[in-house]
Amino acid sequence: MFNEQENSIPCHHNIDFDNKAIQQKFDLWMASSKQLQIRAVSLLTGLLYIVAFIADNLVAPKELIPLMTVVHFYIMPPYLFLISLLTFKKEFQKLNLILLFLSPIVATVGNLVIVSQIADPSMRLTEIYLSLFWIFTVSGLRLKQATFSALIIFVMVFAMSYFYFPLSLEYFVMHCFWMIAAFSFGFLGAYLIEKSNRAVFVNQEKLKQLAVTDRLTGLYNRTKLDEVLQEELNRSQRYSQQFGLVLMDFDYFKDINDTYGHQVGDEALIEIAKLITGHLRSTDKAVRWGGEEFIVIYLDTDHEEVLKLAEELRQKIERHSFKTVGTRTASLGVTLYQDSDTINTIIQRADKALYIAKNAGRNRIEFL
Ligand code: GH3
Ligand code: MG
Ligand code: MG
Repeated sequence: MFNEQENSIPCHHNIDFDNKAIQQKFDLWMASSKQLQIRAVSLLTGLLYIVAFIADNLVAPKELIPLMTVVHFYIMPPYLFLISLLTFKKEFQKLNLILLFLSPIVATVGNLVIVSQIADPSMRLTEIYLSLFWIFTVSGLRLKQATFSALIIFVMVFAMSYFYFPLSLEYFVMHCFWMIAAFSFGFLGAYLIEKSNRAVFVNQEKLKQLAVTDRLTGLYNRTKLDEVLQEELNRSQRYSQQFGLVLMDFDYFKDINDTYGHQVGDEALIEIAKLITGHLRSTDKAVRWGGEEFIVIYLDTDHEEVLKLAEELRQKIERHSFKTVGTRTASLGVTLYQDSDTINTIIQRADKALYIAKNAGRNRIEFL
């Protein structure tokens, strides 16, 4: 039931990509930050296809215009405008990514059909180089999907060029070279973008964590306490759940400072913070409230359970032998959420309970 790792601070997770939750959070962050890019790029690409369609009508051989019209006007622009529109709907994000992933493949198939109909494909095959580059650096696809989409195109075009199109050896070799160049520049660009996005995300997460962390103990600080308490107050009001709050104060802590010095006092605070975190259940939160005062929030609990948990914590501290200062004790004021509580009222109640515990001789819990 309890967290076994007494030596780690479970309030915080490591921010690296081996951590599944971090990877998921990063993916979500990327997905939402890409929406605007996808919207703009697909709109622009759709418009450029219409420009291509107009150019076809001006310069392409007459017999090819119907086919080009189908690809450059009836298929690609609506397809891309649909992607652009779907970015406004969060519930279609997954579907839209699939459409985006397929869009260069659809475009390439259309292009290859057109190329297969003309005597000199050299002019129209150049679109492929742009497509490869577009997929990686412009489209808004993530590195993995972009690589996969680009590989499909590469293989398709390579096979058609080798087996089907009547290309001269010189043209074929240069064509392959330009495809490889577009692919590798594109891949490198996408890789670097992904890498810098990861760095930005990690730094942002670290700063966020720092802003809610007490520097000495690694527990949450009061900023986070307000956030957590407000969330829990809202939740308790909505679902009529209860949560428990314990305000804990180290007994005779001043003596430690006076006898052994401030440094040893600090070490004792770190030790007691570890005792607290080791005692938390996965959803509970521990906060350094002030100097040698801590608040523990026990989620989804009742009167009996919160008393049991607080008593367990008190005993745990009583039985622990601190490194330099030996056995020490703490007093705990315990309370439960009540209707119409605010952050202040619930903490005040715990503070009163703590005051009673102190006056009643310390090393005990009191409930109010
Ligand atoms: P009581 O049993 O009544 O709680 O006695 P106490 O001595 O623990 O209570 P008091 O509030 O008088 O003392 C708290 C002390 O904690 C005073 C302050 O110097 C010390 N303190 C506060 N913050 C820190 C800190 O970060 N490090 C150290 N070493 N001491 C701190
Ligand atoms: Mg105190
Ligand atoms: Mg004290």
